[in-house]
Amino acid sequence: MIKYGELSTKKANRNFFINTLYHNVLDKLNGLEVNVYKDRARMYIEFLDNDLDDILNRIGKVFGIHEYDVAYICKSDIDSIKKCVLDACKEKDFNTFKSIVKRSDKSFPIHSSEMNNVIGGLLLKNIPNISVDVHNPDLFVNVEIRENNSLVYFNKYRGAGGYPVGTQKSALLMLSGGIDSPVAGYLALKRGVVLDAVYFEAVPHTSLEAREKVINLSRKLLEYTPKINLHVVNFTKIQEEIYKNCKDDYVITIMRRMMYRIMERLCVKYDTKAIVNGESIGQVASQTLDSMMCINSVTNYPVIRPVACLDKLEIIDISKKIDTYDISILPYEDCCTVFVPKHPVINPKMDTCIYEENKFNYDELINEAVDNINTIKIVKEEDYSSLL
Ligand code: ATP
Ligand code: MG
Repeated sequence: MIKYGELSTKKANRNFFINTLYHNVLDKLNGLEVNVYKDRARMYIEFLDNDLDDILNRIGKVFGIHEYDVAYICKSDIDSIKKCVLDACKEKDFNTFKSIVKRSDKSFPIHSSEMNNVIGGLLLKNIPNISVDVHNPDLFVNVEIRENNSLVYFNKYRGAGGYPVGTQKSALLMLSGGIDSPVAGYLALKRGVVLDAVYFEAVPHTSLEAREKVINLSRKLLEYTPKINLHVVNFTKIQEEIYKNCKDDYVITIMRRMMYRIMERLCVKYDTKAIVNGESIGQVASQTLDSMMCINSVTNYPVIRPVACLDKLEIIDISKKIDTYDISILPYEDCCTVFVPKHPVINPKMDTCIYEENKFNYDELINEAVDNINTIKIVKEEDYSSLL
């Protein structure tokens, strides 16, 4: 049983939210024998016993779910509920319990507190050597009495939270091989944003392994969204021109301005509404507020920086949780790390940027890069192996 959580506050959009979540759940459970149905308050998945662990794992990665429970379902009459509670509890190993009845269907004739006594009495009479403990029981026996059916469940699982992916429009994630950007992508998906990723590579200065790493990171993000494409930008010529023509301490700033210009063009090309990246205030020279202002000024698109205010250790915690950390720390160089000046400017001046970057015809090179995007459709690991 799935509880929707935060989306229940969005009254006008409720059906849209629930339908989006429903499709995401179906997508996530693809390949399993399940029956999924929903009403305004809950979604239900009927499944085969053997698939339980797999389903719990998959559902834990679907955004828009606040809580989920493994529930036994029965008709909403007193005899069915009693039988269901007893059967379910007989499978459990416990010494103490507490019954928590929630009567959502107010037409059900027995009030919650009285129903708690009924359930308590039933269990004490039929299961030997158990007692009630209202403070610290081994087992919480949750009974939810609803109009169409009633549910009995024990453990509550905390869902991934956020909004269902697809309840916001699309954005483009700047995905490098580092630690921060996959975390930024995960956090944007959590708000319901549909994402495609963009990776800037500078072959032959960057290796194919570096690209493979970004593909693997994208595949990790695919666990939280029904689909993701990776757009690979050939950044070699632009980068070489920058290093050939521009002042050493400005090369990173200018490189990032070029990236943002390309990102804006790709937002137009793919009809996406925002740029998402893994910048974090003060982390490196190009992420001071002065640098951000100077770099950001080349685009009018919103730039969302989900990890802007997190410490590196906090970002690392999330990257471990979403299992991207071990991939991110692989040592392949990406285009930002290939040519790093000794003293990158931390308070770049706009005039200097404009002067320096006008030393070559970047418009033409940007057009060429945008026209020659290589788009990789990311597929799940198991599907990928079957393609080989
Ligand atoms: P990460 O920030 O992902 O750990 P990083 O620290 O090496 O990688 P930074 O130099 O901090 O990257 O760059 C800041 C952000 O710019 C990245 O989080 C990412 O969103 C974007 N970015 C940097 N390099 C690339 C690239 N080669 N392709 C796509 N996006 C990039
Ligand atoms: Mg970073």
